[in-house]
Amino acid sequence: MLELREATRQYRLGEVTVTALDRVSLRIERGEFVAVLGPSGSGKSTLLNLLGLLDVPTSGQVILEGRDVTHLSASERARLRLQALGFVFQRFHLVGAFSAVENVALPLEAAGWPVAARWERACRLLESVGLGHRLHFLPSRLSGGERQRVAVCRALANQPRVLLADEPTGQLHSEDKQQIIRIFQQLNAAGHTLVVVTHDPEMAHAAARIIELRDGRILRELTQ
Ligand code: ADP
Ligand code: MG
Repeated sequence: MLELREATRQYRLGEVTVTALDRVSLRIERGEFVAVLGPSGSGKSTLLNLLGLLDVPTSGQVILEGRDVTHLSASERARLRLQALGFVFQRFHLVGAFSAVENVALPLEAAGWPVAARWERACRLLESVGLGHRLHFLPSRLSGGERQRVAVCRALANQPRVLLADEPTGQLHSEDKQQIIRIFQQLNAAGHTLVVVTHDPEMAHAAARIIELRDGRILRELTQ
């Protein structure tokens, strides 16, 4: 359902060209749980950003549900992201002035949901990850683990077809980490498609397929 074909992403820094991703072909099927591993600088975030339509390849193609989306305009990509994709980042990226429920409702507002419906959905999502008692807390009053659970709810708000996460447990302590891994496992068991960049062996273990990057190329793939 989500595919890279011979995707290359280069950055030009003055005279120097850095190849962050080098002719990578990859196909993510519906319902898969894929972990992307590799040392720092191996191209993991670049790969995820291409899959998530946050970035465009220098050459090659990005295919979403059979459609070549490589050359869409920035606004068309933004609309597709809102409709089809959910993102979770290492540093949560919550809006500091908004409560937990307001953060989760934000993408629903952008998608044009009526106020009562988006409020109800946001509350239901937060309750489903054990945050029913934190609905009106600002991010600054939440623990790291709670913030990341809010961010996961926000990513799920629009019922995305794929959830993409870039080191989602990178800032979390052990107990909080376990909780995020459990949530991801539950989401996958419920049929969600997940692509997770991670350094965490436990997260990788939870995935059915591991893709290891090295120097912008796929070094190996493992199905477990
Ligand atoms: P990872 O997420 O695995 O740490 P990245 O995808 O962030 O790796 O980066 C891959 C390579 O591309 C690195 O060499 C990095 O320095 C380079 N790179 C990433 N983003 C940029 C950028 N915006 N400008 C220049 N070089 C970049
Ligand atoms: Mg990265």
